[in-house]
Amino acid sequence: MRRFVATFAASALIFSAVMGAQISSASAENNPDTSVSARDTPKIPKSVYRIKTKDKVAFITIDDGIYKPENALAYVQANQLPVTSFLSSWTIKDSKKYFNRISKWGSVQNHSATHASFAKKSTDLDHEICYVQKRFAKKYDWYPWMLRPPYGAAQDSQAVRKMGEKCGIQQIVMWDASVNNGKISYADQKLRPGSIVLMHFTNTLKKDLKLAVKKIREAGLEPANLDDYLPRINSIPAILTKRAGLTQPSR
Ligand SMILES: [Zn+2]
Repeated sequence: MRRFVATFAASALIFSAVMGAQISSASAENNPDTSVSARDTPKIPKSVYRIKTKDKVAFITIDDGIYKPENALAYVQANQLPVTSFLSSWTIKDSKKYFNRISKWGSVQNHSATHASFAKKSTDLDHEICYVQKRFAKKYDWYPWMLRPPYGAAQDSQAVRKMGEKCGIQQIVMWDASVNNGKISYADQKLRPGSIVLMHFTNTLKKDLKLAVKKIREAGLEPANLDDYLPRINSIPAILTKRAGLTQPSR
């Protein structure tokens, strides 16, 4: 199942043509640090592909943030659609307003700094995870508690979970369905209660959103806010407030 999902995941990614070599090496390097002793086991759980729930809900998640199509924003606003945005800090520039608006019924979360694969030994996890936490907090008033690794790589590695934990991440979020340019694909044949749907901020986003909503409803489900099912558990960690010179936001 895990290998199947990894293969499925790779095919869904808009960077797959460029990064194919990295993806194929990712599964072999998924757990580069398995020798860590039990007492060092990170507190945050392994990644989640589908939320365990009997509620008739599914979740829309959108990655990266390179394009910011206005027609997709208008569609989200007209339908008050709960959207979780997983943003890479290098792609979003000064787009606080757009992402706040498109995630008004959802939340903004961490999708790395440079979109480097977490499975590569040369990747600086502190920069990719913690820098984003601090930058988002300081520049955009966002305090992410979910992390989606680029390419879905090394999603369960101890190194990734421990670095996430250090900087306020509480959940690592994968997906079990994806929509790309008007086509949907499934890790396990269909949408189920708790399914997490992946798409990207591309210029076909409105079309992809409409298809996702249609397929979610055809499965007898309704789009729901992932934050309601994976809520932030603790207060903002000191590493974000002290270092960034911030006070705790009310939320
Ligand atoms: Zn991405």
